[in-house]
Amino acid sequence: MLGDIPVPRCVTAEHVRLAVKAVVVHAPEAWPAGPLCRADHTPYPCRLHRWGRRVLRTRGLTDPAVTELAARGQSAWVNEPAGRGRAARGNELAARGRAVRVPERRR
Ligand SMILES: [Zn+2]
Repeated sequence: MLGDIPVPRCVTAEHVRLAVKAVVVHAPEAWPAGPLCRADHTPYPCRLHRWGRRVLRTRGLTDPAVTELAARGQSAWVNEPAGRGRAARGNELAARGRAVRVPERRR
C-alpha cells in the first residue's frame, strides 16, 4: 500500500478547495465486503480522502464535520454565510472537476 500524500506545509484556500472535493468525490460506497471509495474502488478511506481530511483538520474541521460534509456534498460548504466568493470558486471547481455539483440558484 502506498504511503499517505503529505499535507502541504502551508495550507492555502486552493488546498482547502481540493480537500473538500477530495472528501466529497472520494466518499464511501457500501459493498458486501465493506465500504469502498466511490471514485476509485479502493478500501475506504482512500489516500485522497485521507489527504482531504487531514487538510481540513488543519482548518479546524473535525472528523464528524468532514463526514457530514462528504455526505451532504459540496453545497453544505459553498452555501455557508462566508458568501458569494466561495460559491463562485465552488462553481469554478465544479467546472474543472465536473463530479462536484454546486446549486447555483439557491440563496
Ligand atoms: Zn478515492
